[in-house]
Amino acid sequence: MPRTKKTPTLTAPVPSATTAGPPIVAIIGRPNVGKSTLFNRMLGKRTAIVDDVPGVTRDRNYADAIYRNRPFRLVDTGGLDPSASEGMLALIKRQSELAIAEADILILLMDGRTGLTTPDQEVVRLLRGAPKPLFVVINKIDTPKVETLVADFYQLGIDTLYPISAEHGIGVSELLDAIYPLLPDPEENPEQTTMPRIAVVGRPNGRMSASPRW
Ligand code: GDP
Ligand code: MG
Repeated sequence: MPRTKKTPTLTAPVPSATTAGPPIVAIIGRPNVGKSTLFNRMLGKRTAIVDDVPGVTRDRNYADAIYRNRPFRLVDTGGLDPSASEGMLALIKRQSELAIAEADILILLMDGRTGLTTPDQEVVRLLRGAPKPLFVVINKIDTPKVETLVADFYQLGIDTLYPISAEHGIGVSELLDAIYPLLPDPEENPEQTTMPRIAVVGRPNGRMSASPRW
């Protein structure tokens, strides 16, 4: 149920930001907007996880997955949640810079219940200039009754917003289906999608290192 004001312009598959491995899809957003919930939900029934690191479950920062036969690497930037000494804007800036540098496709998640915040506006400003497809997703739209909460976010001037409930799995298939055309088809681009990448596995719930390698 994505809300579109204009036809989205993103249609071409994106190459991987790095030389090998599947395209990287990064989930960005303030703490508590539901990044980890969405991460797990996107790796749900319809998306197969393809890496098989023993003992590593879904409680981590990234996963290699396949959606409708197209591989991608999903990254939860929650490992970059702020320390006591770092303010929200510094966090958002750091998350955004890393995502712009390392990811191929960006998912910016916001909290529909909180409404649009200044850090949200800042991150949109930062990400918008990046030559990367950006999906702006409004979470915690759990029932049709609260769909009106999405209206606040149109002041961002983003053409298409994706209202979802990560917790209840509403709108997540629509988001995956919107991302899907941007993922390279493994049959057409075998070299882009089949090369194994060296896995860098974060400690479960642990903070990522100062310079995480996605
Ligand atoms: P993160 O800090 O961005 O990774 O956020 P989490 O995934 O840890 O979620 C933060 C809080 O929001 C948790 O209490 C979740 O249960 C809650 N949450 C996540 N998704 C939803 C949703 O779709 N609806 C509601 N009502 N709560 C949600
Ligand atoms: Mg998290």
